[in-house]
Amino acid sequence: MNVVSGYLKKAVQLINKDIPYEDESKQVCVTIRVFELVLLVNFVLFELASLIFWSGSWMLLAVPWIILSAGCLVGTYYLRTRTAFHLFSVVNLLWVAVTVWYFGWNVGVQHFLFPILLMSFFATYSNFRGKLVYTVLLFLMRLAMFLYTRTAQPVYPLGKDIETCFQIFNMLCIYTIMFYNCWTLSQTTKEVEEKLAFYNKRLHQEARTDALTGLWNRRSMMEYLESHIKAGSEEFFAVAIGDIDFFKKVNDTRGHNCGDEVLRQLGRLFSDYMNEKGVVCRWGGEEFFFVFPGNGDDCHFNIEQLRSKIQNMVITDPTTKEMFSVTMTFGVEEYDFSCSVTELIRRADDKLYIGKDQGRNRTIY
Ligand code: GH3
Ligand code: MG
Ligand code: MG
Repeated sequence: MNVVSGYLKKAVQLINKDIPYEDESKQVCVTIRVFELVLLVNFVLFELASLIFWSGSWMLLAVPWIILSAGCLVGTYYLRTRTAFHLFSVVNLLWVAVTVWYFGWNVGVQHFLFPILLMSFFATYSNFRGKLVYTVLLFLMRLAMFLYTRTAQPVYPLGKDIETCFQIFNMLCIYTIMFYNCWTLSQTTKEVEEKLAFYNKRLHQEARTDALTGLWNRRSMMEYLESHIKAGSEEFFAVAIGDIDFFKKVNDTRGHNCGDEVLRQLGRLFSDYMNEKGVVCRWGGEEFFFVFPGNGDDCHFNIEQLRSKIQNMVITDPTTKEMFSVTMTFGVEEYDFSCSVTELIRRADDKLYIGKDQGRNRTIY
């Protein structure tokens, strides 16, 4: 029992084996493998029956198809998905046509055209026209075979009972293949959709946040401000823009890496402090932008508190392990319910530069 389950496990692993091309999904090749395996079982059983019931050249009727099917199966491990599918498609369409020609319509092999059509939609990246042409070709092939069997007798007419056996056996094969194909393809679609939704969410988040500090970026803040003003709320709010003093010196004397550490640590301080008090973003470079509900005095008070926290914040140089601190200069401006977002920011910025001129480490309101 253990030996059987071991072999089964190995067979499943072999069917699921990845393809050598990293830019392609293995799923289509796996469905081709399952299709060919089912057909191989079909052919081998047919061959055994031929050996028992027929004689002469008829005895080896299934041998070419066993070889071709095995070729298609092996091809899925080495060829590009598209090429593997074309090979699979040519071999199996030929097999369907020859079988209908030999044994007639009643053995039911023409139904194998449906899973082949289904697989073509996932195996090739051709456009709408390409898929339509393939569908029409399969339709014409089926129609031609149908009309042919209406007028011509099969090369080898089978008895009613044998026809019924073939018909039932082929039905079983087709339903097995269809079940497997529909199941895996629907699972793949679901997986891809879930992956896409996840990446979309991540992309959206990445587009809105600053990678270094994890704070909002300027774009998010602009959107927030514009929608806030557009909403026409009558509640006061004020903005502040802050710039690190002599930051270039930090970079020049301690290195860019240390400068980044300063920005990260300030980002953490701001997001902790602003929690429920208002919103903050990294405006760009070493500048940060704040929005507080309430009037300019409230904003001024909060910014002064922040400024004292900043100058008391101890930063450790990641290379020398030296402790140091930085200061910031701020400009505060209350919204007057009439100016534009750009004008509001310009006014806060002007005040920031007044603070820089007056000696830095201060808030101008
Ligand atoms: P001031 O007090 O007048 O603001 O002087 P400052 O040296 O801070 O001003 P300046 O605008 O001359 O320099 C800002 C520096 O900020 C220059 C730039 O290299 C640095 N900077 C901008 N973005 C980053 C960043 O992401 N990481 C690091 N490490 N430095 C940055
Ligand atoms: Mg600056
Ligand atoms: Mg600066």
